[in-house]
Amino acid sequence: MTWHVAEEDLRAYARGELAPPLLWSADTHLTGCARCRARLADAVDPVALDAGWERLDAELDAPRPGLSERLLMRFGVADHTARLLTATPVLRRSWLLAVLSLLVMTVLAVHLADRPALFLALAPLLPLAGVALSYGPSLDPSYEMAVVAPMHGFRLLMIRTVAVLTAGLAFNGLATLALPEYGLLALAWLLPSLALTATGLALTPRLGPVLAPALVGGAWLTLLVMAHLHTQGTPAPFTAAGQSAAAAVAALATVLLHRTRDRFDVRPVGGFPEGGAL
Ligand SMILES: [Zn+2]
Repeated sequence: MTWHVAEEDLRAYARGELAPPLLWSADTHLTGCARCRARLADAVDPVALDAGWERLDAELDAPRPGLSERLLMRFGVADHTARLLTATPVLRRSWLLAVLSLLVMTVLAVHLADRPALFLALAPLLPLAGVALSYGPSLDPSYEMAVVAPMHGFRLLMIRTVAVLTAGLAFNGLATLALPEYGLLALAWLLPSLALTATGLALTPRLGPVLAPALVGGAWLTLLVMAHLHTQGTPAPFTAAGQSAAAAVAALATVLLHRTRDRFDVRPVGGFPEGGAL
């Protein structure tokens, strides 16, 4: 245990006034930490404590898995993993619809202007944004629960990344099917997608979950503008040489990411307060 429930949170918890997601953090933590349970017992009168444990019991006994969560579990995904996946904000309907409509508009624009580079420029940014948004405290109500849950931070990151990346690549793939006249060129977003996402993740422990993907996305757009200004025809990132470079970057970033995996397990800035004087 690297942190404990803060004193004021413990008191709020005992009064039944602690709100999610702090409530979930406290619940999860208290089930596994005898020291905090003892502090809780000291902090409150027995009646309130009993009520708290009854509520915790009821919550543990009666999870309400949604449709997608039940589906995932039916396909053999462990229940806590399914919970984390369905709590991933970018896997919710609103995000998926936004991505889908952006892709539809881009495909229409490509058809109108005969510029496949419009799609090829945008497509790699979507998985990068999706992964970035799924790994940050700002948007994710299950974030704190995930941080205190007994799951390894890097493992959680990888589960979510794979899920979000798969969804993003599947959408891009659908859009590619809508551009048959460009043949294999319409698939030239795939390797840059992997390169951008892996680089964004690899830089996250160093630069933070906002700056890292923003810099990577900015670098990608800069690269495209430079390529557009200096070459005629297919922009450099989508030529054979550019694709090989993207594959190399993706491989390098993946190695770097794996080597820095321990850095994902530290509490991010703005995380939890250390527990009181204990
Ligand atoms: Zn504790």
